[in-house]
Amino acid sequence: MVSVQRGPEPGGAKGLYRAFGETLRGLRTTMARVVEGPVTIQYPEEKTPVYPRFRGRHKLHRFEDTGLEKCVGCSLCAAACPADCIRVVAAENDPDDRVSAGERYAAVYEINLSRCIFCGYCEVACPFDAITMGHEYEMADYNRGDLIFTKEMLLAEPIEKVPLRNEGE
Ligand code: SF4
Ligand code: SF4
Repeated sequence: MVSVQRGPEPGGAKGLYRAFGETLRGLRTTMARVVEGPVTIQYPEEKTPVYPRFRGRHKLHRFEDTGLEKCVGCSLCAAACPADCIRVVAAENDPDDRVSAGERYAAVYEINLSRCIFCGYCEVACPFDAITMGHEYEMADYNRGDLIFTKEMLLAEPIEKVPLRNEGE
């Protein structure tokens, strides 16, 4: 005959106490929120400030004085990217019509944001601070192709893509 040792009933009295404790904690948090003020954020009209080191949409930069692109097409960012989502094609600068301050510039610079994991390795790898990550996170789109950000898009200021309701709607 095989004897089977039974463990404690699932949950049991201890589980009941734990559940009761969690319920009380939840109630206390809810009450604190009621007392301290509303917690519902009316997105997209209202946005929660992100943490200062939040890594959002990328931006390519120019020198303020000359307007030349900081990116020299070295591909260090692409080499550092663990998601392999940066494509850089470098070209030689024409001394009479420079695009960047270096010998070369990025003739093509693309980031496939549908693959990006927003790790920030690209901005850390860049020796010229040519690429940084900002606080914009509204990048949803309907087509994957639209998530490939080109150099022109990355050099430009981010576009507001979130549909905002008009007054009274
Ligand atoms: S944030 Fe990370 S995953 Fe995204 S492009 Fe930069 S290195 Fe690649
Ligand atoms: S963004 Fe920086 S690391 Fe990437 S290709 Fe341009 S200069 Fe090189």
